[in-house]
Amino acid sequence: MKNSILSKILQLRQRVRNAEYHYGKEPGSVQLIAITKGQNLESVKSAIASGQRVFGESYVQEAQEKIRALQGFPLEWHFIGRIQTNKTKFIANNFSWVHSLANSKLALKLNEYRKNANLTPLNVCIQVNLQKELSKEGVYLEHLVHLAKTINKFSHLHLRGLMAIPKPEYQFSIQRENFKELHQILGKLQALGLQLDTLSMGMSEDFEAAIAEGATLIRIGAAIFGKRDR
Ligand SMILES: *Cc1c(COP(=O)(O)O)cnc(C)c1O
Repeated sequence: MKNSILSKILQLRQRVRNAEYHYGKEPGSVQLIAITKGQNLESVKSAIASGQRVFGESYVQEAQEKIRALQGFPLEWHFIGRIQTNKTKFIANNFSWVHSLANSKLALKLNEYRKNANLTPLNVCIQVNLQKELSKEGVYLEHLVHLAKTINKFSHLHLRGLMAIPKPEYQFSIQRENFKELHQILGKLQALGLQLDTLSMGMSEDFEAAIAEGATLIRIGAAIFGKRDR
């Protein structure tokens, strides 16, 4: 079990390096976030033992246990799930990044709590719902510019870029299309003067296509830990 997580992480790092090279990206420019939702503490510790320091969680309740139990390690936690108003305080106090911000009221809450916590600004990405899927979070394109300008004004949030979870596609060229669109949207925001440097896109089944299209953060669960027990 332990060894299999180690070997999967090593394989994954190699695939990321190969993709960076193949698509002409700077070596090390793509950061791997290990997504620990549905995984037990022992698995997370195996990942830490193999050198992984950056982790992502979708559920605050699960994150609370892990963050508390792993306080002795110098870890960086990213929140990637649905943000509930009553969890904004915990998120602002315990995470370095939020990838899934999609509304200004939650941004206001996170900003206030981050300010009260006396921490450096919380890094945030706006989640974009590219395909207008009702089952998914994320701002629709027509509201994105307004939201980005609003979030950019909060002094305890540092707007870094965009995140999306496109529908699963099995064909590489189609995977690339969705990621390419997100990259183009980032370019439009940059052209408006917003200083953004992050594209959080790509998961176990499509991260190479995401790297091809400029991903800087990839969020990987199953390819490290195997299938989640639900
Ligand atoms: C679960 C999850 C991931 C990881 O997905 P895998 O297919 O297990 O790699 C990435 N991003 C988000 C937002 C998730 O909820």
